[in-house]
Amino acid sequence: MNAPAPVELIRQHLIDPEVCIRCNTCEETCPVDAITHDGRNYVVKVEICNGCNACISPCPTGSIDHWRLVPRSQAYSIEDQFSWDELPAQAELPADAAATMLPAVDETLQSNAARSPSSANAPWSAAQPSLQLFTHKSPLNATVAGNFRLTAADAEADVRHIVLDFGTHFFPLLEGQTIAVTPPGNDDSGRPHTPRMYSIASPRSGEREGYNNASLTVKRVTVDHEGRPARGVASNYLCDLKKGDTVQVTGPFGDRFLMPNHPGSNILMICTGTGSAPMRAMTEHRRRLRAAGKALAGRLMLFFGARRPEELPYFGPLAKLPPEFIDTTLAFSRVPGQPRAYVQDRMRERARDVAELLAGDTFVYICGLKGMETGVLQALQEACTLAGIDWPSLHDRYVNEGRFHVETY
Ligand SMILES: Cc1cc2nc3c(=O)[nH]c(=O)nc-3n(C[C@H](O)[C@H](O)[C@H](O)COP(=O)(O)OP(=O)(O)OC[C@H]3O[C@@H](n4cnc5c(N)ncnc54)[C@H](O)[C@@H]3O)c2cc1C
Ligand code: SF4
Ligand code: SF4
Repeated sequence: MNAPAPVELIRQHLIDPEVCIRCNTCEETCPVDAITHDGRNYVVKVEICNGCNACISPCPTGSIDHWRLVPRSQAYSIEDQFSWDELPAQAELPADAAATMLPAVDETLQSNAARSPSSANAPWSAAQPSLQLFTHKSPLNATVAGNFRLTAADAEADVRHIVLDFGTHFFPLLEGQTIAVTPPGNDDSGRPHTPRMYSIASPRSGEREGYNNASLTVKRVTVDHEGRPARGVASNYLCDLKKGDTVQVTGPFGDRFLMPNHPGSNILMICTGTGSAPMRAMTEHRRRLRAAGKALAGRLMLFFGARRPEELPYFGPLAKLPPEFIDTTLAFSRVPGQPRAYVQDRMRERARDVAELLAGDTFVYICGLKGMETGVLQALQEACTLAGIDWPSLHDRYVNEGRFHVETY
């Protein structure tokens, strides 16, 4: 008589509902539509997910990167996943189970995912980040220590510098990390609002050194991505906060978009609008090191785009930084009487300097609205081609070495 066939195991891809901030990035990214959501959770369809990993690096919280070995016949359905408040632990497996490690990952799919524009690793010299010290179940109540308008009073965009104080709570943050803010109240379907992500704009030593605080750069959303009137829930809530108000915060998030710590490292920063938040944090960290007399051979180069100078967050303080500390190029797209210029146009004009930096010990950071990514990648490619550098292999090397970081939203 034949022995019974061993129980077939699969490696099931799951999302941690406690950490996921329901930002929809994974659903937009998945090439085979394996991710879906209801009003409660984001979930992965086991019968469709092929394990290509394309969704892993874009997820801002890391909540997407969970896998469980389960007997194929007992895989978690999407209904199971919709009902979860937390991720189940790895269950004990039958002794006769055969770990087939499905989903079987197609090599082409895997290499496509590996060719993602952003690094899956942090720079080798980055500091070790703290992650998810505060979650949905146990958020941190931060106190607003200040809320200042960064854009000119007559500017269309209302961008705010918001300082949060964490009191006696241990909440260490690194430049490039994000936190999530949960607006109070419920959405139209009566469910509590989902948290929204915001980049930290202050360096690791805090907005004000010696105080347990950090800052955010928040743009009040008054129109949607198509330009139709819309009142953004979290951004309006944050922009209207007064000193002394409390805010529910979770995080920190982010273990890749971090700055290098070795003194010889160059940093190439390309941003628009509130994408300046992590660039301000990195620049301010280096500025404080320099002010403390630390020898820093690495160079800083910044391309920063906005509609008009009046709408450029941190324009005043940025203009005061000496050129030997940071090489800044601004691009304005709506100055009356002047041709429209975007960051990629300015990068093309400075292609030789960009290529020279890329040939050295450099780390690249791109942050801002989603639409900027394609033009910036194109400009980097052109700069390399002009300098005789093979862009695809440089880009691959940068991605593999944790030198290429993109955060667009
Ligand atoms: C990793 C990460 C970092 C982020 N960092 C920052 C940051 O430093 N500063 C910051 O201001 N935002 C940042 N965001 C965006 C932020 O999380 C919110 O999406 C944004 O504030 C809008 O939220 P809301 O609740 O106000 O709008 P919602 O109520 O969620 O949306 C209202 C409408 O506006 C549209 N919309 C959403 N966001 C935008 C936008 N940015 N521009 C135009 N239309 C929009 C929506 O599609 C919807 O139609 C970041 C997002 C991510 C994923
Ligand atoms: S691993 Fe690939 S197939 Fe699976 S959910 Fe992520 S992007 Fe989709
Ligand atoms: S936080 Fe990650 S898992 Fe959750 S919706 Fe966003 S991308 Fe998907």
